[in-house]
Amino acid sequence: MRVCIHRGAKEIGGSCVELESQGKRILLDLGLPLDAENNDVRYLPDIKGLDGSDPSFLGILISHPHVDHFGLLSHISEDISVGMGAAARRILKAAAPFMPCKWPAPDHGWDYESEVPFEIGPFTITPYLVDHSAYDAYALLIEADGKRLFYSGDFRAHGRKGKLFDRMIANPPENIDVMLLEGSSLGRLDDDKQFPTESDIEARFEKAFRDAG
Ligand SMILES: [Zn+2]
Repeated sequence: MRVCIHRGAKEIGGSCVELESQGKRILLDLGLPLDAENNDVRYLPDIKGLDGSDPSFLGILISHPHVDHFGLLSHISEDISVGMGAAARRILKAAAPFMPCKWPAPDHGWDYESEVPFEIGPFTITPYLVDHSAYDAYALLIEADGKRLFYSGDFRAHGRKGKLFDRMIANPPENIDVMLLEGSSLGRLDDDKQFPTESDIEARFEKAFRDAG
């Protein structure tokens, strides 16, 4: 299995990783860079098969429904299969009529079920539901050619699904050869500080609403 990080290693978001095995290829995420002026086709990485013309390109796996992970799907062929959480797919579809731009709402591909593996050509994919501010977010374990790559996607430990993080730490996927780990907030706080939990923020909102006239 070969890996090419097209975008996301030197910036937050815009994530796009290409995997190749036995002449077949898939993508992990196809995000719009956060500093893009608009969702323009010029931001699309130069990857063979995004126009649907290359049978060696098998599809795209989206980790979660945030624009910096799926936004550039606007510019690819509708023939390309796109994997994501079933709820994430429904959210994109429901949002589409309200969006001013060409909003990507892929209607065919693989619907993830947490910890249930599925195959795409030579790749075996196991999604893991994670805690993140986007609903229905997943980390992805990809196996091919006897190698195991773990792609964390965006995640956190202090949200409503924080238990999923604890569960992953207590029982992580084993024998990983390569890990691609999101880390956009690793250095934002001093060591003795913590982000508030989502429940803390809910309580603050509740108080603000009660106190308002
Ligand atoms: Zn995200």
